[in-house]
Amino acid sequence: MLHIQVDDRRVPAVPGENLMQALRRSGIALPAFCYHPDLSVVGSCRACLVELGASSEPVPACTLQATEGMSLRTETPAVHEARRCVLESLYARYQGDEQADNEFLYWVRRYRVQRRAGAQPALRYPRDADPNPFIRVDMNQCILCTRCVRACAEIQGRFVWGVAGRGAETRIVAGMDTSMLEARCESCGACADYCPTGALHDRWSHGQPPADRRVTTTCGYCSVGCQFDLQVRDGRVIGVGSQPAAVVNGRSLCVKGRYGVDYLHHTDRLTAPLVRQWLLDDRPRAGRGDRGPWVRVDWDTALRLVVRRLAQVVRVAGPRAVGLLSSAKCTNEENYLVQKLARQVLGTYNVDHCARLCHASTVAGLRMALGSGAMSNSMRDIADHAAAALVIGSNTTEQHPVFGAMLRQAVLRRGMQLVVADPRRIDLAEFAAIHLRQRPGTDVALLNSLMHVVLENAWEDRDFIQRRCENYEPLRASLAGYAPEAVAPLTGVPPQDVRRAAEILARRKPMAAIWAMGITQHTTGVMNVLALANLQMLLGNLGKPGGGVNPLRGQNNVQGACDMGALPDLFPGYQETSDAAAVARFRRAWALSGPAPHGDFPPWHASASGPGGSPRVGLTVTEMIAAAGRGEVQALYIVGEDPVLTDPDSNQVRAHLAAAPFVVLQEIFPSATSDYADVLLPGAAFAEKEGTFTNTERRVQRVRQAIEPPGEPRPDWWILVQIARRLLQALGRSPQGPLAAWDYDNPERIFREIAAATPSYAGVSYARLDAGESLQWPVPDEHHPGTPLLHRESFPRGKGRFHPVEYLPPHELPDAEYPLLLTTGRVLYHWHGGELSRRAAVLTQLCPTPYLEISPADARRLGIRHAQWLRIVSRRGDMRARAAITNRVAQGIVFGNFHFPYQYNVNALTIDALDPIAKIPEYKVCSVRVEPTADVAEPAGLDGVANHHITARGVP
Ligand code: SF4
Repeated sequence: MLHIQVDDRRVPAVPGENLMQALRRSGIALPAFCYHPDLSVVGSCRACLVELGASSEPVPACTLQATEGMSLRTETPAVHEARRCVLESLYARYQGDEQADNEFLYWVRRYRVQRRAGAQPALRYPRDADPNPFIRVDMNQCILCTRCVRACAEIQGRFVWGVAGRGAETRIVAGMDTSMLEARCESCGACADYCPTGALHDRWSHGQPPADRRVTTTCGYCSVGCQFDLQVRDGRVIGVGSQPAAVVNGRSLCVKGRYGVDYLHHTDRLTAPLVRQWLLDDRPRAGRGDRGPWVRVDWDTALRLVVRRLAQVVRVAGPRAVGLLSSAKCTNEENYLVQKLARQVLGTYNVDHCARLCHASTVAGLRMALGSGAMSNSMRDIADHAAAALVIGSNTTEQHPVFGAMLRQAVLRRGMQLVVADPRRIDLAEFAAIHLRQRPGTDVALLNSLMHVVLENAWEDRDFIQRRCENYEPLRASLAGYAPEAVAPLTGVPPQDVRRAAEILARRKPMAAIWAMGITQHTTGVMNVLALANLQMLLGNLGKPGGGVNPLRGQNNVQGACDMGALPDLFPGYQETSDAAAVARFRRAWALSGPAPHGDFPPWHASASGPGGSPRVGLTVTEMIAAAGRGEVQALYIVGEDPVLTDPDSNQVRAHLAAAPFVVLQEIFPSATSDYADVLLPGAAFAEKEGTFTNTERRVQRVRQAIEPPGEPRPDWWILVQIARRLLQALGRSPQGPLAAWDYDNPERIFREIAAATPSYAGVSYARLDAGESLQWPVPDEHHPGTPLLHRESFPRGKGRFHPVEYLPPHELPDAEYPLLLTTGRVLYHWHGGELSRRAAVLTQLCPTPYLEISPADARRLGIRHAQWLRIVSRRGDMRARAAITNRVAQGIVFGNFHFPYQYNVNALTIDALDPIAKIPEYKVCSVRVEPTADVAEPAGLDGVANHHITARGVP
């Protein structure tokens, strides 16, 4: 630390920082418009003038570096007047609402700047000139600070904004003076967030009175775990503002986080419990699939009916006839309660959640190789320290957009070498040193060929292998047959590209391996993950900053739901249900008194087994739904999930659910699955409750209540507590063990129990999180600072184990009848089943309909025009989507998204072939045929709305 003299104060400064940074840290505020601490310094507005040393010549503070003993004056009459003149000339440009509340007008008022007489210029540009649905553009208010230009380039890695013209004609324009969307804007809102004048302003809060409260919370969409401020007025969320102190994302947000939360107030919200008439009448259901009308009831009635039914099933058919699907959208506290309800109260191991559908293979594969299934490093660590990165099967800029933007910056600003391996030419491929475009389902062959080249050139890290790994020789032998030339016919990747990629990955260290569902959602998902673990052990990239194994989890709290044990084979903290010691611990902690109503209740003894037959291992998501269809599971309790939309082969899922004897759904909106429910319990959304989420990098973060739910919804934790208490009473049991009670009256009380039951969360508390600590598990005690980097010295299983893996083809490949290979995923503007994003106005305007990416060659051959409706058919069903003719997909491959229900559901096509270990379905490969169709009406209310992905971008 050095010191500078500012007026009559001695002020500390960090070597290398500029004077504005030092002044602001010491609370000395100067006007500054082009300057922002997050952006590069241009020194163009000259509002931050100071006098330096003996000179009376004012200089901009932002352009000067602090040096020891430097002396400056910030408030002399001369410098004050110089600043006032700068403000006056900027104000002469500004043509906006004089009463507005913005950074620029704050300083105008503070310096008592008046317009020069006769200096009221005519409007130079049309107001609200850009047709996008999220930012109001009024360049009459622009003072040419260029923060928007730099925010777009330096934070988002896009180049939407630029400076055009010269002299008095200088102006900020989007693209080639076109529109934001045509300039490939990703709608992140960073430009508006940094704009000091309101020239760029979020539409949904423009012209509105300011918020009366701001509540910092964690995003409910993806697992990046961005934090932001919900702006609240009169009990409604009126906007989302950046929270600069957010550890993961700073001010950066994506379109979903910034503009996608108005679903909270959507009129579709479930506002009261609903039950079917047959249940209320206590008579058998009329027939298969015919569930009859809904009846609105009070909470007491709904809870009574659910408990009566569950208790009856447990007593008559046994605990194994009950299944629970937990939710990665819900908090840690709620997921903990779902699995406790299942195991302790109902006595079943049949509990699972959507991690089964996204990263079950990651959890299984990494546990086999390293002993821990979690992301080893942090997103910021990779963005700052990785010399190279392999992004495989992750469309990061669309699925985890804020992390995607960090990766783009790592390439642009520090020259990180990026290798992208993806069948589609995703956005990140533009930033890659090399794009390996493997055929879907050939990842093992590709990864093995990369490792083959590593060994061929002796690039392996022998010291790391020798000290920290085992089973190396079998791996080495297994790679012999994977020369790039040998596997090129399989993968479609030119051998020279594999060799070049291998050299980048091996020689630039540390290298981070990053993946998502392009790797995991295969019948070989576990093998794919094992191959990635092999690669990182071979190169010695584990336990090091900037390296590691980095699976990007899907939904906001899928990491937490796994941590909490909402899995059929794991207690909280990944304590195995087949481990006698773990069972003994939870039996003691959750002990109940009173006779068990069934022989294997609770299922603690070795003979207890699920219908799958494994001791103390329950059914997975897809197994549970099939078992419900067969009547083996007689009561299915679903929290916050929509399996009809998100599970593979949705026609079969519908058939199973139609036959299921009793289905309870706890949700915030009616969904495709609610057609098959007997009880609908309205839950609270993320902004309406307290709790915690754990993001993809194991970071536990607070979720805070900003508003009340509309009508009678209750937080999911409250509903679960009511069910458990009533069930215990109905079954004649009462809590005995130290963690057995259900006496929670707030989520913090539940979290204290989580910390007691889960060693990796032992040191996490609301007090620490609310005090601003950012904790990544494991946090073994209350003084531990958390663990940003795993595997530094050793692996949880001791030595890392190499697993030789051989290429196996996908379950279903194209043939004469179904000649195209379908692969599926998400798009930037929607999330998961779309239950939330389809009810967010901006997101729906940007992407109102599903679309199918198809190559120009296939489109030509099939007579398909851009944006026309298509019928896509597989052996299991059909769907409708618009054609997006694009080179993003190779010939023979089509890509569909799974955000739309009913006839637009891509999962009507996908196959339920499972990975044999992780039981994850093969969403990424099945075969289809495609034909133009005229039998689709535009979805209601969307007539004339352009699908930004299809129409604005044309054929990329
Ligand atoms: Fe939310 Fe993910 Fe977007 Fe961040 S990147 S704002 S967590 S959806």
